[in-house]
Amino acid sequence: MIAATPLSGQFELDQTPKGWQQQLADAVTDPLELCRILQLDPETILPVLERSPEFALRVPRSYVAKMRQADPRDPLLLQVLPLIEENSRVPGYGTDPVGDLDARAATGVLHKYQGRALVIATGACAIHCRYCFRRHFPYAEESGLQAGWQTVLAALKADPTLSEIILSGGDPLSLSDRRLQQFTDALREVPHVLRLRIHTRYPVVLPDRIEQGLLNWLASAPLQKVVVIHANHAREIDSSVHRACTDLRGAGVTLLNQTVLLKGVNDSVETLTDLSEALFAAGVLPYYLHVLDKVQGAAHFDVDEARALEIHADLATRLPGYLVPRLVREVAGAPAKMPVRA
Ligand SMILES: *Cc1c(COP(=O)(O)O)cnc(C)c1O
Ligand code: SF4
Repeated sequence: MIAATPLSGQFELDQTPKGWQQQLADAVTDPLELCRILQLDPETILPVLERSPEFALRVPRSYVAKMRQADPRDPLLLQVLPLIEENSRVPGYGTDPVGDLDARAATGVLHKYQGRALVIATGACAIHCRYCFRRHFPYAEESGLQAGWQTVLAALKADPTLSEIILSGGDPLSLSDRRLQQFTDALREVPHVLRLRIHTRYPVVLPDRIEQGLLNWLASAPLQKVVVIHANHAREIDSSVHRACTDLRGAGVTLLNQTVLLKGVNDSVETLTDLSEALFAAGVLPYYLHVLDKVQGAAHFDVDEARALEIHADLATRLPGYLVPRLVREVAGAPAKMPVRA
């Protein structure tokens, strides 16, 4: 994933809270700096670190602040730290694990499932998640924003079976409010589209992105709105995340969450129970628990299927049904996300 373009080089040092764009520009990208902030010994960390220029370390400072000091196994840290294991070439792990490129309906539009099309709005993200299944996606050629959304809009218009558009990426909320407004303004000419869904990590990893301009845009869009956030651990969900979620609901948004089951991060029934509880406390329902997509560089996060089923079955004995996410796998060419079954 490419980083969002920093806005300008120099910032004045003052006491006013930084806006989200400034926080993006100010994200931690240097592993040594991350070690310094977290009081981790670079001598012990560096031998395991990977230099990954095309998918570099990237993490907002407010997210770093939620990590535990001096803990190399911290579940938030593990989501962003580029490890030398990323170099392993493991059979079965590829650069397009879920068949995205075969599902292209137009530049920047993926169409896999009936009634729903997914728009690759941008390649930029606030954070670089090491297990991301689109970490090798050719965003430069396949972003829907090119030509001012026109190719995307023409494709959506031409297919009256579509009732739901999913803005994805990358992270679509990396785009400015003005760009997003342009998109929904153009959607007014596509009357068969009833629902707008947004897949985003911003409410979790940079909640200040959920500001008034964005809320105004959402509230004014004449569509049903669903925002699917992406939290993997209860410790990601603090008061600033609560505030962002409350504001999104206030703008008429239904909030769901998807989680990726990740070894060392959340592969225990206690961790996932706490996560569901924390999500509901923030007004968010758990939607999917994804087993890892087999993307090159992420094999060290894999939890085997038998263990995934065991955790999921345990989860169902501890929580009300509405707090148990569906355990699914994405299978290239399948007509839906597939339930993982024994
Ligand atoms: C995951 C995905 C969707 C959404 O699937 P739901 O089961 O509706 O959440 C839609 N389109 C594509 C291409 C997807 O990968
Ligand atoms: S998982 Fe989402 S936020 Fe993380 S790098 Fe991938 S697209 Fe970006």
